[in-house]
Amino acid sequence: MAKKHEFGLLIDYEYCTGCHTCQVACAQEHDWPAGMGGIRVSEIIQKLPKGKYYLTYLPFPTELCVLCKPLTKQGLEPACVKHCMAGCMQYGPVEELAKEMTKKARTVLYVPR
Ligand code: SF4
Ligand code: SF4
Repeated sequence: MAKKHEFGLLIDYEYCTGCHTCQVACAQEHDWPAGMGGIRVSEIIQKLPKGKYYLTYLPFPTELCVLCKPLTKQGLEPACVKHCMAGCMQYGPVEELAKEMTKKARTVLYVPR
């Protein structure tokens, strides 16, 4: 039997384009009504010196993320991971994802409750 917190998502937000495809894929896979879903993409605008701005997109799973268990039990990728054209998201054992994380800055590791 799988241990709790054994699997998670690693999100490399440096290359996220803010396309929201992960949100749409999650909503379609799980039939979420408008405004609900397992992942949200936030837009963060930081003001820099000399009148410049820095834009970051941060995709982050919500409390509703169930890690696509019906798909992953069949050996398939979660819907958001499969449809992210920028390849920003990985699903896998938390220990492996944590090792990956040490190789790349600007990543987020998500482990559901
Ligand atoms: S699908 Fe990928 S690139 Fe698009 S918003 Fe989601 S994480 Fe970012
Ligand atoms: S892993 Fe599945 S449930 Fe979680 S955000 Fe991605 S598509 Fe939604």
